[in-house]
Amino acid sequence: MVFKIDIVEVKEEDTIILAPKSSVFDKIPPKSPAFYNPAAKLNRDVSLRIYSAYARLTCSNITFGDALAGVGARGLRVAKECKGVAQVYLNDLNPKAIELARYAAELNGVSEKCVFTTKDAILFLAEHSQPARRFDILDIDPFGSPTPFLAAALRAVKRGGLISLTATDTAVLCGVYPKVALRRYGGLSIRCEYGNEVGVRLLFGAASKLAMSMDAGIIPVFAQASRHYIRVYFTLEKRASKAEENLTNIGYLNHCIECGYREVGASLLNTCPKCKAKMLNAGPLWIGEINSKSILENAVKLNSDTTSAVGKIVSLALGECGLPPTYYIVDKIADRLDVLTPRTEEVITRLKTMGFRAARTIFNPKGIRTDASKEDVEAAVLGLKK
Ligand SMILES: [Zn+2]
Repeated sequence: MVFKIDIVEVKEEDTIILAPKSSVFDKIPPKSPAFYNPAAKLNRDVSLRIYSAYARLTCSNITFGDALAGVGARGLRVAKECKGVAQVYLNDLNPKAIELARYAAELNGVSEKCVFTTKDAILFLAEHSQPARRFDILDIDPFGSPTPFLAAALRAVKRGGLISLTATDTAVLCGVYPKVALRRYGGLSIRCEYGNEVGVRLLFGAASKLAMSMDAGIIPVFAQASRHYIRVYFTLEKRASKAEENLTNIGYLNHCIECGYREVGASLLNTCPKCKAKMLNAGPLWIGEINSKSILENAVKLNSDTTSAVGKIVSLALGECGLPPTYYIVDKIADRLDVLTPRTEEVITRLKTMGFRAARTIFNPKGIRTDASKEDVEAAVLGLKK
């Protein structure tokens, strides 16, 4: 095969990916002639673990769709590395990207599992909206916000199917542009110490609100946030009862910048009940559970190496199951109380001794998620004062 562009062969775990030379050697991978982001390898590693855990719990002969596949980095890896996946559909409007994906599929020996198309993403999804053609797992990984693709994506998965969405407009979701968040995701974002979790909840909220309008509901599976992207995974339950249940999981996050008090619920709070300062209000957004215990337990079991980056990430998320929204950052509390910052692990131990549940969070290395109140977290920080 002769390509008219300079290409390089990249290895991600067991899979060979063909990418334009510029995407590997330029500081920011260009969209043209075809997009591949080597820095997103860990993001793909994690997604493969989640897909495999889901596949193990559901059925065999899984179909996977990637509506914006680029050079096929995620789709080819799913075809090569995910057990239980029978067919992978890779679509991208850019024929050069799909040409590279098609050739890489041959190099990986997975051509027979792969179907390649160069359609507009919405058209690709619409063509998979008939019941017999719907996907078990669908990935939407665009430049910017995934919301323009959301309605078509919800129609293109089976009952109980898994959808993963990536948003790269993190400044919007994490509170720099709250009004843009309101129009794109249907809720206001806020700038606070757990702004990235607010972003995750806005993305789940947008998916849930659209699903509810179709008499369906979502069940969140897992979420990740980094400086460059927010990524959520959920299954779609096409039942009106699930839609009604989802409605109880839409609400507001009220946060006091002055004293760190936060309150989650169905109503907006204007004034902090602790210090009387003006509260920041995020939402409406998803205020329910964001992790699936059963799928994450499976994701941890799939590989006994819990010290790997992926192992650590899924184990941390599993530890957060059942704990309430928002987390505390030890540095911030110590600053506010004007004491030396204790080790995060020590504060967690102290909270457990006090009878609370407490765990690290995947959203911040210095964050603690706990069912303790703000005052109890402060007591735990003060208790460690030297
Ligand atoms: Zn306050």
